[in-house]
Amino acid sequence: MSARVLVVDDVLANVKLLEARLTAEYFEVVTAMSGQEALDICARTPCDIVLLDVMMPGMDGFEVCRRLKADPATHHIPIVIITALDQPSDRVKGLEAGADDFLTKPVSDLALLARVRSLTRLKMMTDELRMRAISGHQAGINALGDSVLDDGLNGRVLVVDDRAASYERIQIALRDSHKVDVETSPQEALFRAAETDYDLMIVSLGFADFDALRLCSQARSLERTRNLPILVIAEPEDTARVLRGLDLGVNDYLLRPIERNELLARVMTQVRRKRYADRLRTNVQMSMELALTDGLTGLYNRRYMETHLETLLEKAEDGGRPLGIIMIDIDHFKPINDNYGHDAGDAVLREFAARVQASVRGIDLSCRYGGEEFVIVMPDADLSIASVVGERLRKKIGGLPFSVSNGQRKLDVTISVGIAMRQDGDKADTIIKRADEALYRAKRDGRNRVVSDAA
Ligand code: GH3
Ligand code: MG
Ligand code: MG
Repeated sequence: MSARVLVVDDVLANVKLLEARLTAEYFEVVTAMSGQEALDICARTPCDIVLLDVMMPGMDGFEVCRRLKADPATHHIPIVIITALDQPSDRVKGLEAGADDFLTKPVSDLALLARVRSLTRLKMMTDELRMRAISGHQAGINALGDSVLDDGLNGRVLVVDDRAASYERIQIALRDSHKVDVETSPQEALFRAAETDYDLMIVSLGFADFDALRLCSQARSLERTRNLPILVIAEPEDTARVLRGLDLGVNDYLLRPIERNELLARVMTQVRRKRYADRLRTNVQMSMELALTDGLTGLYNRRYMETHLETLLEKAEDGGRPLGIIMIDIDHFKPINDNYGHDAGDAVLREFAARVQASVRGIDLSCRYGGEEFVIVMPDADLSIASVVGERLRKKIGGLPFSVSNGQRKLDVTISVGIAMRQDGDKADTIIKRADEALYRAKRDGRNRVVSDAA
């Protein structure tokens, strides 16, 4: 796993030290010796992670961090603040500035690599989602910018810990800003995490008779909990298990005694990150739906229908089953636009689609084929069924006026319908062509009628 790491420190020796360690692990290293230089580099070259010294003349690390996190172009880049051991308040300040993590000087090799690795993994996941989401973004969905504003509060947190003194302390620290549940049985915890939409699971590694890392690993492999952030709490002498945990996919850790502000800051970061990833995922799902469906009517689009029709035809031919196609064109649609406006035309198309959806079976595939042309693919329907459905649709459209202009106007709309049945050797284009020819005859014979290809 290679990644580009930006190391920022005003002391050359520190830069060189981190550069050497990371290069030895095959990371690509870029260096900057001031805050401004770091911002310039981030604007120019994409970095996967930033290691940021706090104490720098001019712009300090907190300010660099705040600026990177406030810019939608860079706010997803993980930032690790490097603080001095004797300044514990710096960690909290760093996390509040939006840092994803911190390391304490002198930086231990294990902590450095564990941090860089786990954040790189996270970054790759978000990059993938961002890339897919950006195409949805171009299609008019906006979910990317919002996370800059997320306060990371009111998260749903599950605390898994069997020692009352310990979990009560966590509860008290978090209860004003989050909704906290406690589970004392690790086995139960997995069920609860899978059932409820938590934003974070906090797991104590101190169970007497259970290795809590097992719970972390199970949570990572279960579909329902795979994306649930995990923060483990360990004794200072237990760092080896913390590192195992990070390798298993644990997102963050705290060492006892738990410092209240640090706990709050880390929980806030995880909650914010979880919501960001959730939003990206929803966004990706929406853009995938967009690729399949028509935005105005919500029906499947032509490309999807043609691909799917090919498969349905093969299946029907293999099974010797019938398959019918209904092709519909709205009669004299152009005058609706011309007389009442394009919005009225759109309203008719939407209402039309809703009536179609309500009159076909679940397995039928309704699609918008072109402007005011629609195709319904009906697996397992023979000519008599397809004709009944075609006639039913004709009555459903022509029998009840369409209301447009917020219900102020009623329009009479009729449709012409062409039907074609599958023949052996049919491809999507051949069967559609026959349906289109039937439709043409319906138009020619006076519109507002159903004509089948066989007739
Ligand atoms: P015919 O009975 O022969 O089908 O006549 P028609 O007027 O329905 O057919 P024509 O193909 O001449 O016109 C179709 C019109 O549909 C022209 C086009 O502007 C309009 N149209 C296509 N897509 C949309 C759309 O998304 N919204 C609206 N409002 N109109 C659309
Ligand atoms: Mg028409
Ligand atoms: Mg037309």
